[in-house]
Amino acid sequence: MSDSSPRILIVYTGGTIGMVESEGGYVPEPGTLQALMDARAAFQADDVPAYDVLEFDPLLDSANMTPADWLRIARTIRDHHESYDGFLVVHGTDTMAFTAAALSFMLQPLDKPVLLTGAQLPLNETRTDAQGNLLTSIVLLGDYHDRFAGVHLFFHDRLFRGTRVTKVNADSFAAFDSPNFPAVGTAGIDLDLEWDRVPAPQRPPRTPVVTALGTATVSAFRLFPGLDAASLENVLAPPVQGVVLECFGAGNAPARDDAFLGVLRDATERGVVIVAVPQPLRGTADLSLYATGQALADAGVVSGYDMTTEAALAKLYYLFEQDHTPDEVRRLVQTNLRGELTPPGEVPPALGRARRRLAGYR
Ligand code: ASP
Repeated sequence: MSDSSPRILIVYTGGTIGMVESEGGYVPEPGTLQALMDARAAFQADDVPAYDVLEFDPLLDSANMTPADWLRIARTIRDHHESYDGFLVVHGTDTMAFTAAALSFMLQPLDKPVLLTGAQLPLNETRTDAQGNLLTSIVLLGDYHDRFAGVHLFFHDRLFRGTRVTKVNADSFAAFDSPNFPAVGTAGIDLDLEWDRVPAPQRPPRTPVVTALGTATVSAFRLFPGLDAASLENVLAPPVQGVVLECFGAGNAPARDDAFLGVLRDATERGVVIVAVPQPLRGTADLSLYATGQALADAGVVSGYDMTTEAALAKLYYLFEQDHTPDEVRRLVQTNLRGELTPPGEVPPALGRARRRLAGYR
């Protein structure tokens, strides 16, 4: 496509943005989003790049999304890769961060930008956030399609990296944040991107290869005081291959509970890969910091550092698609593949703090 007339493909998967009220609550209705966009002059303005809308059938509340739907999105982007300069996946907010992380691993190489957006209120509501999210995403893709690549999520005036973003608010228009990596762009009067934080595209663009996710069995488990080792044992039982363990604080667990540690050890010895991530939104799992973290490491658990649960799950799905041994998966889980984690000793850009660690609390 020529640089002077970018063309954007909108892949409309569902979500509140195009929903209408029904007796059973809000549901997505075919044709509604496109009709509402066609009826609004702003979407026809001269400074809005040309776009086409490809609507999925069925449209989904994203609570119903599965890895098969991620595959459909990824294949749609691959199949239309040559004909468009950028891709906007319109998606429900509930699982948008999971899809953003999954697509980041599934589509490689990716030399064109893929954005995800949605809305907290449907486009036909008076106070909707849908118009701003949609229009800014389309304009951003049009203006910068040849200057950045990879999977990102745009919502409420901020652009986030697809492997770093998480839904933090079910009520606010500012529904997403990226606690361990700063936003990579902001939309105010100007559309500002942090060029050193976004992947640069290679030219000519290569057609992405799609890796299907979902044949592996992965799971997530959140620790809580009083947990029964038997319920964790169920989560770790065959055929599960990988589990994201949401740990207390900086990667801690009940180290005085021998039954709990025994369940973890048995599972890792069977080849289950257990990845510790922090329950707090911000911070990293450092299993060497406290004795309660060291006990996890001794049981074979590996650190996912500052990954979100969404990114850690997508990464486990992805790594188990590659026929790696469990040890190889454990090594790669701790390796930065798509900007999803900050390796130990490094500080994410512009978080504005030196990282100093406690020592001696063993
Ligand atoms: N339940 C909706 C969904 O995720 C919420 C939304 O779109 O904001 O599809």
